[in-house]
Amino acid sequence: MAKPFRDKLVKAFQDWSLPRQIVGEDAMSTAAESEGSRRWRPRLEQADRVGTSICPYCAVGCAQLVYARGNDVLHIEGDPRSPINQGTLCPKGAATIGWMMNPNRLTKVRYRAPYSDHWEDRSLDWAMDRIATLVKQTRDETFVRHLPDGQTVNHTMAIAELGGATLDNEENYLIKKLFGGGLGMVWIENQARV
Ligand code: SF4
Repeated sequence: MAKPFRDKLVKAFQDWSLPRQIVGEDAMSTAAESEGSRRWRPRLEQADRVGTSICPYCAVGCAQLVYARGNDVLHIEGDPRSPINQGTLCPKGAATIGWMMNPNRLTKVRYRAPYSDHWEDRSLDWAMDRIATLVKQTRDETFVRHLPDGQTVNHTMAIAELGGATLDNEENYLIKKLFGGGLGMVWIENQARV
């Protein structure tokens, strides 16, 4: 047997917890450690603070504990004090850190003007103003008070709204009031099917 391979085999055997447990002082113990596991550190050891947050993904609103070192988020887990999730998170909530730390995450508004071939950075205030302006303009241009037979409808068929699962009851209530009663929109939908 080649020496490097034999050395590796001996090392692996020595590192395996079972033989060390059998020849060790406490043969019935299940607490034998390998060299590898001895080097492992608690995943939160590096954190110097912990904050609380709410999972951004859906309206269940699971509470989270966010562990950080300086400005770097190290780990996010469920908050056991929450009566909603009692320390648990679903796979989406458990992966929140990937969403936060993803280098591809957009942190600015990106805008491509009509007929343009490139994207531009814009401020959030600019984007909100533009959305409000276009909604008002479209609504005013397409608002129908009466159908040809005289029936009163007071609606616009030119704008639709699609909500997301993150919206809670109160936000959906306000959306219905603003878009339906206020603007006269007919197509108001939500992707959540709970
Ligand atoms: S996505 Fe999962 S973890 Fe997040 S609030 Fe909803 S159920 Fe909770």
